[in-house]
Amino acid sequence: MTLDRRTVLTGATSAAAAAGLAGGVAHAAPPKGQIRIATEEAFSTTEHLRAMKKLVDSQPQVVRHDYRLYRMMTADLNADTPKRLLDLEKIRLAEMDEYGVTMHLLSLTSPGVQLLPADIAVGVAASTNDEMAEVIKRHPGRFAGLATVAPQDPAAAAKEIERAKTKLKLNGVMINSQTNNEYLDDKKYWPIFEAAEAHGMPIYIHPRSPSDQMIAPFQDYNMGSAFWGYGMETSTHFVRIMASGAFDRFPDLSIVLGHMGEAVHFWIWRLDYMARPGMSRGDTPMKRLPSEYLRRNLKITTSGQENPDALRYSIDTLGLWNVMWAIDYPYQETAGAVGFLDKAPITQPERDAIYWQNAARIFNIKL
Ligand code: MN
Repeated sequence: MTLDRRTVLTGATSAAAAAGLAGGVAHAAPPKGQIRIATEEAFSTTEHLRAMKKLVDSQPQVVRHDYRLYRMMTADLNADTPKRLLDLEKIRLAEMDEYGVTMHLLSLTSPGVQLLPADIAVGVAASTNDEMAEVIKRHPGRFAGLATVAPQDPAAAAKEIERAKTKLKLNGVMINSQTNNEYLDDKKYWPIFEAAEAHGMPIYIHPRSPSDQMIAPFQDYNMGSAFWGYGMETSTHFVRIMASGAFDRFPDLSIVLGHMGEAVHFWIWRLDYMARPGMSRGDTPMKRLPSEYLRRNLKITTSGQENPDALRYSIDTLGLWNVMWAIDYPYQETAGAVGFLDKAPITQPERDAIYWQNAARIFNIKL
């Protein structure tokens, strides 16, 4: 697919306007030339996978709960998943063209650099961001990127966020949930929030294995994985940040959760009820009700959740402007993710907002 970006942009916008004038067209088919920005798309570098392999081979206790996964990812870099992670410009672009995916918002695959020793992690994060920025420059309109940071060193992470925004022109930050079993509500990490808010960089919190404190009931039946544990770990992380009052201190901070918001907003009524004045809200420094933070500070993506009922609920609960589309490449199929949103029973203006307009606004992406 070769896209004349100007033609596509104009076409999609006028289609959306026409649908709006007609009073909204339910179940409308996506127009040919639909713009699609996929927002949780993983890649890796040989430097990253080699550093991870060294860790897996020499200190399996550090990798612990995800040992099998990381051994699989790093044992043979020619195997399918690592090959797709390491490739940016051949297999990936061809697949994007095949399914009409305009752009991948790239991020270093989970767990990023968060298992590496702090000094090594800071270096790998910087070189990964440099490499990503080069690829983005070579393919304008096809790639954007979330910066990798090492939360192990919060001051360095804050500096890297500034560099990623001002020098590398990246679009946000990816953090793979807990770091050394610690969560970002701990005030020692707040320089990261401060930098992200100051530079308008949303923080995407991506899943990884539940922390050591949480892992016990997830150890059977492979439940620590994307099957169940990842979502519990990541949703808990978001609620910790919210309950800590971080959104009162950083009101313009945006946190992005994938996998249809890791189900946090399915709790919206009960979160408000249990945190109402006089109830457990007294135990937290939160100044507002959870629903206010969910609608102001939380953005979600559809990565790996191709469920039209959950999509409808998310739009109605959080607002259309807070929901974005993602594939979760290469772990989920492009065909499935495109088919899901193409066929979802929503109006064409809703589809345009979710497919690309929200991502363009939230991540400051220029098409
Ligand atoms: Mn993912």
